[in-house]
Formats: sequence, C-alpha cells, structure tokens
Amino acid sequence: MSTVNLEFLESMDEGFNASPCMNCGTCTALCPVEIGPLPRELFRHVMLGLEDKVMDQADTIFSCLLCKMCEVNCPAEVPIAENLRLLRKTINLRVYKLGR
Ligand code: SF4
Ligand code: SF4
Repeated sequence: MSTVNLEFLESMDEGFNASPCMNCGTCTALCPVEIGPLPRELFRHVMLGLEDKVMDQADTIFSCLLCKMCEVNCPAEVPIAENLRLLRKTINLRVYKLGR
C-alpha cells in the first residue's frame, strides 16, 4: 500500500504544475517513446505525495526525451516536459544526493 509522504511533496520544486490536467490521455497517445502512464498518472502520484509510486517510475522519468510532443498538444497547457525535468531534479537530490 502506498503512503503519502508530505516531505516529498514539500521537496518538489514550486514550479511543478500539473493541476490543470484533465486526464484526457493526449500526452500518452502522442509520446514517441510510448512512455506508458506518463505524464497523467505519474503527475497524480506526485500531487498526492505518493513517493514510492513516483520512485518506481524513476527509470521511465529519466527515459523521457523532453521532446515536448505531449506538451505542445496538451489542451490544458500543462508544462509537462518542465514538470518531468523538475521531477528528475527532485529524484537526483533525494535519492542520488546530487547537489543543486
Ligand atoms: S494532455 Fe495534458 S490534460 Fe491531457 S492527460 Fe496529458 S497532461 Fe493531462
Ligand atoms: S516530452 Fe517525454 S513524455 Fe512528453 S512526448 Fe516527449 S518523450 Fe513523451
């Protein structure tokens, strides 16, 4: 069972913004590397503070090309690629203890 980790939520960069997502699925359908649950499911896990579920997706998060194919077609204008970049930063800081 996943647990909410408020400290993980607080560690996310304040630039992370997925609230406008309406779960339409366009991003998943257009992703050239067929990154499955990204970004819609992943972003919900982040917003809920489910760190273990996010960390389970670390390999996928780092395999994103940051091509923005999803982002430019997102009807809610979610900054998808930037969110993924900020997630990488959080993972690096928390897991790999890399400096800013
Ligand atoms: S395209 Fe945008 S609104 Fe649709 S699921 Fe993806 S992030 Fe959410
Ligand atoms: S930015 Fe990442 S998630 Fe979005 S379409 Fe490109 S590879 Fe897929």
